[in-house]
Parts: sequence; structure tokens; C-alpha cells
Amino acid sequence: MSVERILLSSDIFRGLLVHSLITEQEEVLGLLFGSTSENEVRIWGSVNLKRNCKEKDRVEVEDIQLSEAMDKAEALSQEINQTSTLVGWFHSHPNITVFPSHVDLRTQLSLQSLGPRFIGLIISCFSRDSSNLEKINLIAFQTNSQSNKAVSIPVSIIPHANLVTSPQSKYDSFDYLLEVQKNLLAEEQHEFQMALSGTTDLGQVYNASVFTLSVAKILQKSLKPMYEFIQQKMSIDRLRLSQIQAENAELARKIREKDGKKLNAID
Ligand SMILES: [Zn+2]
Repeated sequence: MSVERILLSSDIFRGLLVHSLITEQEEVLGLLFGSTSENEVRIWGSVNLKRNCKEKDRVEVEDIQLSEAMDKAEALSQEINQTSTLVGWFHSHPNITVFPSHVDLRTQLSLQSLGPRFIGLIISCFSRDSSNLEKINLIAFQTNSQSNKAVSIPVSIIPHANLVTSPQSKYDSFDYLLEVQKNLLAEEQHEFQMALSGTTDLGQVYNASVFTLSVAKILQKSLKPMYEFIQQKMSIDRLRLSQIQAENAELARKIREKDGKKLNAID
């Protein structure tokens, strides 16, 4: 039985979308956790991955990353007290169509060896339509093993709480995005270390400048907007909290008023 529909947590979608919008230059990559049944895949967890190659039209999932993700699925299962498995992978298509490339279809086919319901998700962003409007598209797919062609799967984005059994298991896409920042920095540090070996003094100065510029770009284009977004969200949450407290006080006053009338009636 093939996968007929995918239920994707709105919180997870928000994390993946913001991750995709962080860079217009290269594709970004992650893995997805949840559960599968006969013809359905449910997604309530995700982890972003460090990229071994940073290119505009290519990403690769390493075997070690898959193995680490299995451990993360186990940890997530314990954390939220709900069996969670690795159910798919995700990557972005900046400035290109959402449809999977031949490389994506091959990668997906090999990942389907992990399970017949393993799915791929792609978010395309930064591309413009004929009326010059920027469009964001999402596609879920598998690869048909006979024809090697893409089979697209309908995706429904639903509230996170509808997918998890424990109300305490609140997923916060900020955790995911914080990991994204750490991985972006780790990727730059790795490239800097690689570039240092066997180079001249002048080369080292140049590489240090490139590294500084890259870190400044992460601060400017990724960390700062995220910090500002969190500040704005906190302001909105504070406002909402004060509204709820005012409503609460008003309800308490009405209850006291009613109780007072009842006591008067008894007297
Ligand atoms: Zn792709």
C-alpha cells in the first residue's frame, strides 16, 4: 500500500519554512520524525543537518547522519512518551522549481530502503511567478521504483497538538531554529579549519577574513532576524497575557457579584 496522505505539524512546517528562507545561495537539509500507518505518514518532529556540500541545487544525506537520527528518534520517543521514528527527509530549493531533480529521485529511492513509507519533502522559495510575485511551494514525494519517476503525495498542515498524544509535549520550532544557527556556524568553522591546512601566512590571513565575513553574514541574515522575531513574539505574548488576566479578573468579579446576590436571597 502506497502513502496516500501526509499530516504535517504546523509547528514543524514553520521551522522548516524559516530554515529554508535563511539562505538563498544553497539548499538546506533536515530529517523528519513521526509515525506511519498503512497509507498515512504523520510528522511531529524534525532535525536539521550539517551539509557536507553547500550547493544551490544539491544536498546529500550521509549514512552517519541517518544513524544519528535513529538515536534522536529514540530520544524524542522518550521525551514525549510517544513512539517516534524516522519517516522522511526535507530540503529546500532556493530559486528553482519545487519538483524533485533526478538526483533527488535517486536519493529518495535509496532512502526508501529504510522503509516503504519513507517520504521526501521539498520547499521551494525565492522564485517568482510570471507576475513577479515571490512564491513558496511545498511538495511531498516518493520515487516509483519501476519508473524512477516522482509520485507526489497530498500534504495537510494541521495543529501540532492534533498529532501528539501528550499535551505537555509542546514542540517549539525555536529549538529547531537554534540548532540551525549552531549548524551554520559549525559549517563555517569546519570549512575554515579545512582551508587552514597547508596554506601560507598570507593565505591564512585571507581565510580568516573570509571566515569573519561568513560569521558576520550569519549574524546579520539569520541570528539577528530571529532575535527580532522572538522579541516581537514576546511583546505579542505579553499583550495577550495582560488581556487574559483582565478577562480573568472581570469573570472573578462577576462570580463574586453573583455569589453576593445568592447570599442576599438566602438572608
Ligand atoms: Zn532537490
